[in-house]
Amino acid sequence: MTADNHLHTRFSPDASGDAEEYILAAIAANAKHLAFTEHVDLLYFDPSFKMCDLNEYFAHMNMLKNKYADRISLSAGLEIGYTAENKLLNKELVSKFAPDYVINSVHEVNGIDCYFKKFFVNTTPLAAAEEYLNAVLESLDAPYPYHAVGHLGYVTRNAPYEMNLSELCPEIIKKILTKIINGGKILELNTSCIKPLDKSIPSRDVLKLYVSLGGKKICFSSDAHKPSDLFRNYEYFRQLCRESNITSQTVIINGNETALPL
Ligand SMILES: [Zn+2]
Ligand SMILES: [Zn+2]
Repeated sequence: MTADNHLHTRFSPDASGDAEEYILAAIAANAKHLAFTEHVDLLYFDPSFKMCDLNEYFAHMNMLKNKYADRISLSAGLEIGYTAENKLLNKELVSKFAPDYVINSVHEVNGIDCYFKKFFVNTTPLAAAEEYLNAVLESLDAPYPYHAVGHLGYVTRNAPYEMNLSELCPEIIKKILTKIINGGKILELNTSCIKPLDKSIPSRDVLKLYVSLGGKKICFSSDAHKPSDLFRNYEYFRQLCRESNITSQTVIINGNETALPL
């Protein structure tokens, strides 16, 4: 295990555990780098899903970065849920807090998080895929700096039907991947989900297409919501990378892109 680039702790409303628990587990596993990425979903449709006190979060992370400076590299980052409505608020927030690492994700599509079954009521696989992917395409032009594109394919996770995004919407997928490559962004391999088999995010097909279009930057990201999720399912994703001849991941350390083993 060398790095985990997507971690939530008690500072996210749906996660538990302290960053220090992750850090100690990562040091024990000889890891080089962790990126903490607490949720920021401004104007979220469910107001009970509240952002933490970011002053408190960044102060806590600064303390831990100093404490463990000689043992592991740590990023104090954010996972920003992009919408057309919140993008300018996100811009203000990113410039105010200057996080070490930003994952730009799409959770909400048309006013509802596509993680939830109700997103799919009265939809078809094609319509759901198009709505989600068009939102992702738009998010790539976010008016704030970000490093990685979060969980491309998130809409498939809880969909009540089969959704093969690269078959349903080949043109939009190609546009997204081309834009990620041309923008120099990192395509996150979100290792939180492998079941049922071959339902990874992104899917094997999308990863292969990314590589065939010239994409090189990926990172391993467990999207852990508790310390025991750290580094989950990495072996499965290493296999996917071997199939696509990907041999390293791109990690942001002190603002610089650094190649680390998978
Ligand atoms: Zn997310
Ligand atoms: Zn996340």
